[in-house]
Amino acid sequence: MQDTLIALRGLQEIDRHIYRVQAELERLPKELEQRKEVLVRLQEAISEREFSAKELRARIKEIEDATSGLRQRQRKLEHESNTQKVDAALLASFQHEIRQVKRTVSQAEDDGLSLVSEADEVEKGLTELQERLAEESTVFEEFQGNVVKETADAEAKLAELIAKREKEASGGIEAPVLDLYTKLLASRGGEALAELNDMVCQGCFVGIPRNLSVRLARQLEVVQCPNCQRILYSF
Ligand SMILES: [Zn+2]
Repeated sequence: MQDTLIALRGLQEIDRHIYRVQAELERLPKELEQRKEVLVRLQEAISEREFSAKELRARIKEIEDATSGLRQRQRKLEHESNTQKVDAALLASFQHEIRQVKRTVSQAEDDGLSLVSEADEVEKGLTELQERLAEESTVFEEFQGNVVKETADAEAKLAELIAKREKEASGGIEAPVLDLYTKLLASRGGEALAELNDMVCQGCFVGIPRNLSVRLARQLEVVQCPNCQRILYSF
């Protein structure tokens, strides 16, 4: 049994690396995806702001056009009230309309100014977002390049480990023990073995009954931790 445990520990050593490399191979595309999401959200925020800025500028243009039309109307009224022979009643009516036009123009100018400052603010934010997107895109491209390289490295490493594992697994471990080990490896996150140290399983840190420790010392059978089921070994 001691030989089996030694062989299992050799296997565990390789499998630990395999699990680590596999976790890396899972993590890399996920992280890439997350970083891509950030860029997509940034681009969405930019598009929204571009739309708002465009709308605001269109409204400002409308107000400017309307104001310019009203100013023409004002000049025409002033001209007419000055040059034509108008009686007092007509003059009063002209003046009344001129005052109304002036008020409308003044209100429109206020509205226009407040829209201009709103548009300026939106465009300032837009520029900041565009700068951020440019920076983040550069970082992303660099990261993406690294991911490609790291993935290739990890895959090569994995192939190497799997070849090494095949050699180890074929050497002197009984099929039922190997099955048990393989199942535990999957269910215990890549750690199928645990050292027993001072009657405590080092896999789950729970103490085990003395009789199990005695059975382990006899080296006649595979002994599992009653709590985490890992195969126990001791030096
Ligand atoms: Zn345990």
